[in-house]
Amino acid sequence: MASFLADLAARPAPRYTSYPTAAEFGPSVGAAAQGEALAAVAPGTPVALYVHVPYCQAICWYCGCNTGPAGKPERQARYLDTLKREAGMVAARMRGRVVSIHFGGGSPNALRAKDLAALIGFLRTTFDSVERPEIAVELDPRFFDAAYAAALAAAGVTRACLGVQTFAADVQQRIGRIQPYWRVAEVVRGLRYAGIRHLTFDLMYGLPGQGPDDVAGTIEQAVGLHPDRIAMFGYAHMPALLPRQRAIDAAALPDTAARFAQSELARVMLIERGYDAIGFDHYARPADSLSQAAARGVLRRNFQGFTDEPGGAVIGLGASAISQYDGLLVQNEKHEQNYRARIEGGMLAGCRGIARGADERMRGDAIERLLCDGRVDLAEVAGRHGRPAAAFATALPQIDGLAARALLDRDGWAIAMTEAGRPYVRLAAAAFDAWRDGSAGRFSQAV
Ligand code: SF4
Repeated sequence: MASFLADLAARPAPRYTSYPTAAEFGPSVGAAAQGEALAAVAPGTPVALYVHVPYCQAICWYCGCNTGPAGKPERQARYLDTLKREAGMVAARMRGRVVSIHFGGGSPNALRAKDLAALIGFLRTTFDSVERPEIAVELDPRFFDAAYAAALAAAGVTRACLGVQTFAADVQQRIGRIQPYWRVAEVVRGLRYAGIRHLTFDLMYGLPGQGPDDVAGTIEQAVGLHPDRIAMFGYAHMPALLPRQRAIDAAALPDTAARFAQSELARVMLIERGYDAIGFDHYARPADSLSQAAARGVLRRNFQGFTDEPGGAVIGLGASAISQYDGLLVQNEKHEQNYRARIEGGMLAGCRGIARGADERMRGDAIERLLCDGRVDLAEVAGRHGRPAAAFATALPQIDGLAARALLDRDGWAIAMTEAGRPYVRLAAAAFDAWRDGSAGRFSQAV
């Protein structure tokens, strides 16, 4: 059983969707470095596209995404024009082959169905792409119907990721997102009828007023709709950074012990109901490609979370989208107007980021393997980067501190999280992070 350790569970730690994390991005990296990284993508390299849609029909109080009200159709039309222009600029500069496209936001279905379908068609014909790329779309079930599902299926969408969060009505009231079970069930039926059968549900624990019965009830109802993946995220309350969260009653938030118990309850229930635990916050049915990648030891982690996509580049399109190349992380202009001005001026939209040198790549590799597999052989990782295992020596005091509390086992350079230590894997990963020296306050708590 995992152990609740108050001092560790409350300690902030990055989620490590990249290394270095976005907190380390700076203005010295921009469009010039982005252009060089694009040009260096070798022919045939698998490329994952991420497309950011910064609109929602209704804004939820807990949301940490870069999004805003959907606004007038003309504004969306201008954004779509800019996105297409950016896509054309990017496609002209790189020679990789697109294997997947992920639409996130915001809520991509804040766009009209015909506009989103047209954008998908534009991307599939502008980039060199495999015949049937995986195309995943994040959806807000409150504003989705069967006609929209049919349009997405016709455009080639293969996976829908539904923001569900909780089915508990009183918790929904407290987070400003009213979305009854029947609505989600109807959306699921519409997607399946249209032929989109791969479904991911995003659920949350640690929400205001949420108790164990709410978590258990939501999981029971969610599992009854048979999604093949479930992501279970802990709510991160950071109202100083995210003003919209000030609408949430902080006094009603579960404490750290309750959050821990909710996370463990979800894990036990989902495993009992046939899901495999993937990384630290995902669950997937054994036949799902994410489970199979985890079983084969080839699970990856990027800005979309845990993924079974092959290594290669992730190219972000749209305001605030982040691109990941082997030697560079770069983020587009966050504000829509600035993003549009850059693209209309003929420039790429990257404005901040960080170069990944040999040391960052090696450390990032160790962090990724530990988060994906729960274990890592540091000598093997260092060897792959042409370095001795001793390159990780500075991490050992922290690692041994966790080993002394039976949270992980260390055998020479081989490290494996124990069952008791499993929830603290982000803290173990932080041992390899050369940037963590007091700036941890910008991150959510480890559990
Ligand atoms: S629908 Fe999703 S992206 Fe939009 S505000 Fe709500 S949580 Fe955020």
